[in-house]
Amino acid sequence: MTRVRIPVNDLRRAIAADREIIEQAMSDVLDSGWLVHGEQHSAFEAEFAEFVGTSHCVGIGNGTEALAIALRALEIGVGAEVCIVGNAGFYAATACLEVGATPLYVDVLPETLNIDPASLSHGLERQPAAVIATHLYGGLCEIELIARMCAAASVPLIEDCAQATGAGRTGGSRAGSFGTIGCFSFYPTKNLGAIGDGGAITTSSEEIAANCRGIRQYGWSERYVVERPGLNSRLDELQAAVLRYRLRTLDARNARRRGIAARYARALATSDTARLVFWDDDSHVGHLAVVKTSARDALRAFLAARDIASDIHYPVPDLAQPVWTTVDVSPIDIGSLHTAEACAQVLSVPCFPEMDEQDITRVESALLEYATSSTSDGGAH
Ligand SMILES: *Cc1c(COP(=O)(O)O)cnc(C)c1O
Repeated sequence: MTRVRIPVNDLRRAIAADREIIEQAMSDVLDSGWLVHGEQHSAFEAEFAEFVGTSHCVGIGNGTEALAIALRALEIGVGAEVCIVGNAGFYAATACLEVGATPLYVDVLPETLNIDPASLSHGLERQPAAVIATHLYGGLCEIELIARMCAAASVPLIEDCAQATGAGRTGGSRAGSFGTIGCFSFYPTKNLGAIGDGGAITTSSEEIAANCRGIRQYGWSERYVVERPGLNSRLDELQAAVLRYRLRTLDARNARRRGIAARYARALATSDTARLVFWDDDSHVGHLAVVKTSARDALRAFLAARDIASDIHYPVPDLAQPVWTTVDVSPIDIGSLHTAEACAQVLSVPCFPEMDEQDITRVESALLEYATSSTSDGGAH
């Protein structure tokens, strides 16, 4: 039997898993003749707000615009400073640049690769206009502490939940309900994925929700009445219908991701050079299974030789992106030591809910073999 390459993700399997439901949702929407902001959208907003635990959900066209609209709803614009981290794919920075705000880079913790509260406290001394805290790879950052720090400094807190939909404290709050505003992406590879682009904002502030609703649709307060500068960023009926269905199975699929990641974490437990950036409880939803290793090239080659794909999330620290030479904004660096280290040491290995047992075992065995050999020979490969 030929050995098939194991991909980092394979959306064909996610689509195959609920193809009939997607086709049914599509035909229901087509039959209704209502394609944007109809019944499916309203129902999804209500159901998603309830799921996250906020009073409001505002459907948005994608996760990046959710972040930009969140900033605009807080009246953050040119010259305002916003605390973000620099190892999370530049999405928060894109939103800052969109509104003209200046990123204030704070460092991440070397263990979780999430925002470091001690570094953030230095950032807060500058009285930024907001903090964007990303829950990277599916794991909640120290969000309760960060929420307290932001509240004490009277700085609004935006959670970037794009990779952590459904993550929460066991029996308690979920990502998107701790801060002032939660921003979500439903890009197809996210834990709650649409069949195209999609996003949402969650908040328990009536005023912020109303602002976001206005901004996402031309700045309207009502039809054709432009009350504020707006844009167009809507979640369509088809996406909303698919998301409603997939929301019902999200916790189960998140548990499956977590189970896969937990096996990899155990396989690497004895390694001196590699470990999984993961913890096994409800506050991690295994969006990505990320190995942190001082020997990334060696591990990558080791896996490739076994037909196991890997990817890097993310290779370039925000501060090292070429874009800065093209814009008027100069980012501020409060701390970037562990951020740069993270970008140099992370490697994502295959982890998605539809992975079959045989593939999971192959990845698990390869990691175990790597851990065993790299420990006995000092990591030389
Ligand atoms: C995917 C992602 C986004 C952007 O979402 P889009 O829907 O692709 O615009 C923002 N933040 C993080 C952390 C992401 O992973």
